[in-house]
Amino acid sequence: MSSLIAIDEARRRVLAEVRPLGAEAVDLERALGRVLAEELSAPGHVPPFDSSAMDGFALVAGPAAELPVVGESRAGHPYSEVLEKGVAVRISTGAVVPEGADVVVPVERTEDDGERVRVPGLEPGQNIRRAGEDLLAGEVVLRAGTPLGPAELGVAASIGRAQLSCAARPRVALVVTGDELVPPGEPLAPGRIYSSNGFALAGQVERAGAELVSRASAPDTAEGTRQALDAALAGADVVCVSGGVSVGQHDHVRGAMGELGVEERFWGVSLRPGKPTWFGVRDEVLAFGLPGNPVSAMVTFQLFVRPALAALQGADPAARRITAQLDEAVPRNPRREEAVRVRLSGDGALRATPTGPQGSHQLTSMLGADGLALIPAGDGELAAGESVAVELL
Ligand code: AMP
Ligand code: MG
Repeated sequence: MSSLIAIDEARRRVLAEVRPLGAEAVDLERALGRVLAEELSAPGHVPPFDSSAMDGFALVAGPAAELPVVGESRAGHPYSEVLEKGVAVRISTGAVVPEGADVVVPVERTEDDGERVRVPGLEPGQNIRRAGEDLLAGEVVLRAGTPLGPAELGVAASIGRAQLSCAARPRVALVVTGDELVPPGEPLAPGRIYSSNGFALAGQVERAGAELVSRASAPDTAEGTRQALDAALAGADVVCVSGGVSVGQHDHVRGAMGELGVEERFWGVSLRPGKPTWFGVRDEVLAFGLPGNPVSAMVTFQLFVRPALAALQGADPAARRITAQLDEAVPRNPRREEAVRVRLSGDGALRATPTGPQGSHQLTSMLGADGLALIPAGDGELAAGESVAVELL
C-alpha cells in the first residue's frame, strides 16, 4: 500500500473493468428496482381518447339552457351515438367524451331531474382531457439505463407493457473473514464479536438491484481464505470479501486473490474510513476486498461497489451529489479524504450534521445517515458553515 490513490481514481479503475451484462425479459410485477435495457415509447396516445375530467354532462357549448338528457357515457362504457347540439349526455370521470360534444359541465354547476338538465353558459373545451396529453403515439418515455421505480412501472403499464427488457442482475458473492466472527443468534465466546458485515453488505447488494448468490465465512488462514474465495469467484459477477485485506500477519485476502489469478488493480485509497480497500479482476469477475471495520465496509461498498453494480446494469454509476453546509466543525485528516456520515436538514440551503462519533468501528454512525460528506484532506478543521459535497446514500 505504498501510494494511496484518490477516491475518483479508484472509481475510474473500477468502472474501466465493467462489461455491462446482457438483458432479459422481466414481468412488470417483478421489475421494481431493475434497470431498463430498452427504449420505451408509446404505441398509441395516452390517454387513448378524449375523456371527461369530471362527473357531469357532455354537450355542445353555448348559452345557458335546459337540455334533454339523451344518454350516458360511463367509464368503460361509451355513449355510442353522435351528440347533437341542444341535448346533453350524462358523463363520468374518465369516460369517453361523445363525438360532437365539446365541453363537459361538472355536475355541481347543473340541476337535473333525471330527464332534463339546466346548464350555465359555457365556453368549449372545459373539463376535457385530450387524447395524448400524457404521451403522444410514438413518443419516447423511458430510455435504456433507467432504474425502474414505482412511477416507471406505472408508466410502462400505462402504455400496455406487461414485460420489459431489463439488464440481468449482477450476481454477487459475499465472503466475510475473521476468526473472531460469530453469527448473530449464537452465544458469544470471550474475544468474539457478532459478524455484522455480511448483513449490512447483503442489504446494500439488494438495494443496488443485484442478486446475492452466496454468502460464506472464512477463517484467518491462507488456505481457508483461498477456498472461500475460489468458490465465490466461480459463481459470481462480483465478489465482495470483508476483512483480511490489510497488512496484518493474519490478513490473507490479497495473497489468496493472487493465487487464484485475480489481478490487482489497486490497493489503498486515500480515504477514511476505507484505506486498505483492494480491487482486482479475473476474466470479467470484479473482486473487491473491503476493509473489515463495519463502517469502512459499508462506505467502501457505497463508493466503489455500488457504482460497479449500476454500470454492470447499464445505469449511470454516478452517485447523486449535493452541496450542503456543515452544521458543526469537522476535524480534517491531514492525508486522506474523509467520508463523514451526515444527516441532512433544512429547506433552501441544506445543512449536513454528522451522525455522531465517526470511528470506523462505530456502525451506529450509519444509522439515519442521508449521505457521505466528503471532507478534503487538510490541516485543522473544516468550520461550521463551510460548504461540503455530499454523496447521497
Ligand atoms: P480486518 O480488516 O480483518 O483487520 O478487520 C478490521 C476490524 O473489523 C476488526 O476489528 C474486525 O473484528 C472487524 N470485522 C471484520 N469483519 C467483521 C464483520 N464481518 N463484522 C463485524 N466486524 C468485523
Ligand atoms: Mg480480520
